[in-house]
Amino acid sequence: MKNLPPVCVPPPDISPHQAGNGGIPYVWQFDSGHPGPHVALVALMHGNEYAGAIVLDQLLRCNIRPCRGRLSLIFANVAAFGQFDPRYPAQSRYGEEDMNRVWAPERLAGSARTAEQARAQTLWPILATADRVLDLHSMLHDPIPLMLAGRSAAAAALARELGLPGWIVADQGHADGTRLIDHPHFLKGEAVALLAECGQHWAADTVATAWAITARFLDMCGMVAKPALAPWLPSGPYPPPRLVRVTETITVGSEQFRFVREMNGMEIIPAAGTLIAQDGDRAIATPHDDCVLIMPSRLPAIGHTAVRLGRIEK
Ligand SMILES: [Zn+2]
Repeated sequence: MKNLPPVCVPPPDISPHQAGNGGIPYVWQFDSGHPGPHVALVALMHGNEYAGAIVLDQLLRCNIRPCRGRLSLIFANVAAFGQFDPRYPAQSRYGEEDMNRVWAPERLAGSARTAEQARAQTLWPILATADRVLDLHSMLHDPIPLMLAGRSAAAAALARELGLPGWIVADQGHADGTRLIDHPHFLKGEAVALLAECGQHWAADTVATAWAITARFLDMCGMVAKPALAPWLPSGPYPPPRLVRVTETITVGSEQFRFVREMNGMEIIPAAGTLIAQDGDRAIATPHDDCVLIMPSRLPAIGHTAVRLGRIEK
């Protein structure tokens, strides 16, 4: 794959965490013995997105423990992460299938066809008891971090309260499978799951953003004493976050698909009707004013999402 960003941050050594402490490899759970929520932090849903794994690794090495409720630290697709090779850093996103498309209830039951489905089935009993989930991801090219709230109003409200990283995206999920945050368990309003896209996969800033979001999340949930989080907790107040609701998903229909110029994630196109891409004979223009481009693909492929368009909610 050409034109990949450089690998500026090496992958963490998570081998000390292999055993887990409850019988599931790479899963650590700590019960405070006091009432409170069950908060789960998830890293490595995608094997080459390891900024979140750097955070979880450090939380474990620093012996961070909850002061109330229960805290679960989950390294998800460790098999794919184990295949990470800095010479081919885009290739270890997953092994057999995208692990963040396997969380539909019917796929969490029955026999597993892929390693990712099997791992999700192993993890689900823990996640199904979580009140708050933070799923830490990153992006191949886009440096501007954002929080995905999916279709849950409660998740969007939680993201607003969190205040970081500034952009919140409310969407309907993906046609090709169910993300963890889209599981019906997280759409009823009691349990809430957020997906943080912390920046570009292998950039130093992305690790800093993953730290800030995680520390703020733990602090907001009242899970960890403030002094323990002090090294990573950003100083507020934060500027009011902006929520973007996805209005349209542009799918690549031909090999001739081209953006009219290089598009940047969270770029705002002021005028409706502005041409942004050409897909064979099909001209693709912005459907409304102040149209936000969400995660435009640098490598558009037939049948895959080229870009999602959104409107900022006042
Ligand atoms: Zn991801």
